[in-house]
Amino acid sequence: MRSVSVFGATGSVGENTFDLLMREGGASAYRTVALTGGRNVARLAEMARALRAEIAVTAFDDCLPALRDALAGTDIEVAAGSAAVHDAADRPADWVMSAIVGAAGLVPGMRALRHGGKLALANKESLVTAGQLLMATAAANEATVLPVDSEHSAIFQALVGEDIAAVERIILTASGGALRDWPLERLASATVAEALAHPNWSMGARITIDSASMFNKALEVIETREFFGVDPAQIEVIIHPESIIHSLVGFRDGAVMAHLGAPDMRHPIGYALNWPKRQTLPVARLDLAALGGLSFRAPDEIRFPALRLAREVMAVRGLAGAAFNAAKEVALDHFIAGELGFMQMAAVVEATLNRVSSDCSLGNAVLTLEDVLQMDHLARIKAAEAVTMVKGR
Ligand code: NDP
Repeated sequence: MRSVSVFGATGSVGENTFDLLMREGGASAYRTVALTGGRNVARLAEMARALRAEIAVTAFDDCLPALRDALAGTDIEVAAGSAAVHDAADRPADWVMSAIVGAAGLVPGMRALRHGGKLALANKESLVTAGQLLMATAAANEATVLPVDSEHSAIFQALVGEDIAAVERIILTASGGALRDWPLERLASATVAEALAHPNWSMGARITIDSASMFNKALEVIETREFFGVDPAQIEVIIHPESIIHSLVGFRDGAVMAHLGAPDMRHPIGYALNWPKRQTLPVARLDLAALGGLSFRAPDEIRFPALRLAREVMAVRGLAGAAFNAAKEVALDHFIAGELGFMQMAAVVEATLNRVSSDCSLGNAVLTLEDVLQMDHLARIKAAEAVTMVKGR
């Protein structure tokens, strides 16, 4: 029986993963080693009971009593705190889903890789903050990293049987998010509720807002660079409002391979779960005649400064991704709290990168996880200062 663990089980990707595991037989088909969540302990306990998990872990100490109560009478172990989430990754499993949101997802994924096996990586922040280290750790432990982001799964699938040296360019599609048709001058006043109204994808709140600001696409550009090892100049972004083409790969003979499908995360999750085989998945089938047409437009880097910043981060590499991601997370927290305007998020990230790079060299090679975590910490301090500065303008 295959063993699985799901980190971030109670989130949007986690729920879709749970749905697939249950459809494929649940506890009679999989031995569930660990399930982790955050504050939604009632749902975590439900999932742990359904899959008969060996341990359920909440990332927050104050949630432990509620989790213990919810699992009373079972033999499921419970634990709380970020160290307990990290320790859960030390329990070997054949397939591990990394679906915690934000930089908090990095350490569990890195620890899971030490056991070899397969790491299904939804947590793009892991590749943005520590791409070289993560891929080197996977190689050293003969582990396989499988992309779960729909764009990267699409590229991965387009590359099956291909030589990466024959790739001329990778074209990432972007829906453009909830505000893509707003006039530029209105964007500054966009609210959280408006940024959350994603036209195509149902996702967690943070990634949905990041889609509207294109910070999500910026993270994905860096993710592409780190996962596939291509040159940044080979990565393009195109706005494709229908989200039917999940990404494209252009080869040196001029051929372009596109991956199409309904926007449903159960496709890339299911592909990673069953890889290298394909199994029947409960996703809507494409009806091209009903769709009628697909549209595309070039992204505007004035509307979306995040894309320009991603290029600057890739030019520096090293620890720049960790600083970029941490600053983005702080800016997003302040936008969600109503303390920062929508367009001010990019200003905070840019100011943070400038502040951090004046204090230390971001281009240094990333040697250890500790280097990344220290940069994450430093950039959060600098980003908080940048928030004050940007608000005062
Ligand atoms: P959600 O916000 O829906 O879920 C996040 C998960 O992480 C929840 O289980 C949450 O627990 C848990 N969590 C929150 N904070 C912490 C913390 N500090 N430590 C440990 N666990 C924590 O996120 P998504 O599912 O949308 O996204 C997860 C990851 O996948 C992100 O990196 C995102 O970029 C990526 N991704 C998501 C896609 C999507 O369709 N949603 C598509 C492609 C990539 P709780 O809810 O119980 O508090």
